This record gives sequence, structure tokens and C-alpha cells, in this order.
Amino acid sequence: MYSALFRNVLYPFYETKLRRRATLAYLEEMERSQWRPERELRELNWRKMQATLQFAEKSIPFYRRRFAEYGVRAKDAHAPEDLVRFPVLTKADLRAHGSELIADGWSGKLFRSGTGGSTGEPARFFYDHTTYECRSAAALRADAWAGGRIGEKELYIWGIPTKEPRWKKAKRTLHEAAIRKKTVSAWNLSEERLAGVVDEIRRYAPNLVVGYTSPLYYTARYALETGHRLPTPKGIIATAERLFPHQRETIEKAFQAPVYDRYGCREMMLIGAECERREGKHLNVENIFVEVQCGGRHAKPGEPGEVILTDLICRSMPLIRYKNEDVVVAADTSCSCGRGLPLLASVEGRVLDMIVGPDGQLLSSVFFPYFFKDNPTVERYQVHQDKTRAITIRIIPGEGYKAETSEAIERDLRQFLGERAEIRVQLVDEIPVTSGGKFRFTVSEVPIEFGREVAA
Ligand SMILES: [Zn+2]
Repeated sequence: MYSALFRNVLYPFYETKLRRRATLAYLEEMERSQWRPERELRELNWRKMQATLQFAEKSIPFYRRRFAEYGVRAKDAHAPEDLVRFPVLTKADLRAHGSELIADGWSGKLFRSGTGGSTGEPARFFYDHTTYECRSAAALRADAWAGGRIGEKELYIWGIPTKEPRWKKAKRTLHEAAIRKKTVSAWNLSEERLAGVVDEIRRYAPNLVVGYTSPLYYTARYALETGHRLPTPKGIIATAERLFPHQRETIEKAFQAPVYDRYGCREMMLIGAECERREGKHLNVENIFVEVQCGGRHAKPGEPGEVILTDLICRSMPLIRYKNEDVVVAADTSCSCGRGLPLLASVEGRVLDMIVGPDGQLLSSVFFPYFFKDNPTVERYQVHQDKTRAITIRIIPGEGYKAETSEAIERDLRQFLGERAEIRVQLVDEIPVTSGGKFRFTVSEVPIEFGREVAA
């Protein structure tokens, strides 16, 4: 009852009247456009890209200057292949030139956001109302693919700010209750905390569960191992980290519901999401132009490359050919659901610190902390790969470490890197830090081609 009232009356009123947001209108448009043929959507996507380049050249001196340095003009972009001659925008650019990226004469309101500083300095950027509305619409469309419906209960296993003031928490809780959303913290998932999470999910009985991949996985494993029952939502959306098949299987088993993989980043929000068929992630091509680049050219479908993203909506601070440092693979097939939105086959993770398997399997460095969480007797570790792709896992053994543990680690890792992978565990007394005093979980000497930029 509340759902219907919320969907038909309260939410539209909140979005269109109170917040003067056009989200629902954009959503309606996107619900229709998703069914257009792929050829048409690609054409539309490309025309928006050309318009964005022209806008940037005309209204943002920073881009005008950069294009000139590279000897390109917006009108030179006749086909997507031409884009590789245009400059990319890096995180370092964003940090150094952020304020220069705001369009001349922009007088509308701006919202501030930023990337986390887990692997370097955080970068700040701004976006506007329209961008926010189009992004929200894309997220709502993808929620619907996973069984979500506006007005039905959603539970988020999410990163809540660790030092949230009490008044802010109260405000968030109230707001969340009004929009039928509940957030449980994804941090510090100790066994005790996991029991609490399971209990919260059971009491809330959400229609949709959305969460970071590993907290979802650990919650699911905890429930299965301790025999706790979880409620069955319509769907579960896993995001923010790579989803491995064994994780999907475990989460589905615990919740008795399908898991939908989703890919996004803070700078662009939703980039791709699985539909009910789950044959790949449908790209959000109404809002974003996605390129996959490898060694100075566009990668072929099926071939991994660095993802390069352009926001096609934002006219206040457009990020153009932005490199978020992830490696992805475009699909060479279309989805059997009939939607024309092109597919992303996979997201491999961050380009830095990638470990490469004998057949080109890529494991990102973020994988290993989760992998070793399952081995509490490992005090510290470092994964080292030499030029021949041989992998040495240096381990400082902790209390209770046994010879079998080494064997189990080698065996488990082969599940991800293939049976032919050369993997060896080496027990050591210490693991050196870098000259900068930082600790690296993975060190690879295998050159990865993606980072190479085309010469200007
Ligand atoms: Zn589909």
C-alpha cells in the first residue's frame, strides 16, 4: 500500500516539485531508449560525443589548449577511432587543473564530489543538477533490471562515513526512512558485526539489496556457515569491486536470489549494469561515451584495455576522455534481452599492480587482501611476479601457520590464475617496504601495455 502511494504520488512529488528534479522524466526517456537498436544507440552516443568535444573546445580554455597541444580540433573527430589522437584526462590532471575545467560563464549550482585517496591523492570535481538527474535516472533504470521498484524497500551494505556526527546520522536515517532505504555499514565486518548485519537484513526484509562485493560475500558466507537464514529479496546488486564467480554463487545461495553485477566509479557514477539475463553489463550510453584503449588504439571486443570515459551530459565541468585507471573488456555479442545498449564483458580491476596469469588472466591488487582474509594465520604477505610471469608469494607466517596452508594458498590461487600458473609460497621473516616507505601488496615486473599513451 505504502509502496504504491510512494511510487505514484510521494516520490514524483518529492522529485519533481520539491527538488525540482527532472529525474523521472529522464528515467521515462531512458526506459524507452534502451530498446532502440544498438546501431542507433551507438550513433546517438557518437553524436553526443562530438557535441561534447565541440562544447569543450568552445567553452573551456583548458581543453582548447590541450587539443591544440595535441594538434587536434573537435571537428577532426569524424569517427570513434579518431578519438585516440585526443588527449586523455588523468587523475593527476584533475588534481592539478580541476578549477580550470569549469566552463566559461557557468553560473548554475555545483555539487562537489571527489575520489578516495586509497591509492594516491584524492581528486576533487564538480557536477550540476542535470548531470545528477541523468545519473540518478540511469541508476533507477538499472535497479529495475535487478527487480527494484521505486518505493519498495532497499537495503545498502555501504561505506558509511566513519566519523559521522550525530545530527548528520539522524538526518540521514530520517531521509532514508522517507525514501524507504536503509544503510548498514560495510566497515569492520568482524564475526560479531556480521551477526548484527544478518539480523538487520532479516528484520528489514528488503526488496532489493545493494552492496560492495566483499561485505556481501562475507555476510553470505557467515549466514551459510552459521546456519542463519537471510530473507529472499527480488535481487542483489554487487558493486564497487570485481565480482568473482565463487562470490556470486555464495551470495545467491545464502539469499536464494539472483546477483546482478554492476560497474561504476565516483567520477561518472553508473557505467554498466547487468540486466535480468546477466550476459554482460549494459553500458549507460545515453550519459557516457566509453572507449577501451590498448597501446594507443581502441581495443577490439574481447581484448582487455584501459577504460576511457567521457561524460556526455555535464556542461559545467565535463570530464573528457577521463582515465579512471581500470582495465575492462568490451563484449563482441549483444544481450538476448533485446536491449540495444552495448555490453561490457568484464571489469578486470585497476591497471596498477596487476598480476597476470599464463593465459592473460588479470588479478588486481585489491583481490589479495580479500583472498588472505580467509587465511588468518598469515601475518603479512606480498605477491611478487617476475618477468617470466612466475609468482612468488612471500609470507610471514603467524601463529598456527602450517605447511598445508602454503599448499592450500597455491591451490586456491590457481582457481583464479589457471592451472598452468607458476605459483610458489615462500616463508620469510620480513617484507621490505618501498623507498617511499609504502607497503605494496603486489609487485609485478610483467609489463602491461595499457598505460602507453599515443605520442602527441
Ligand atoms: Zn540485457
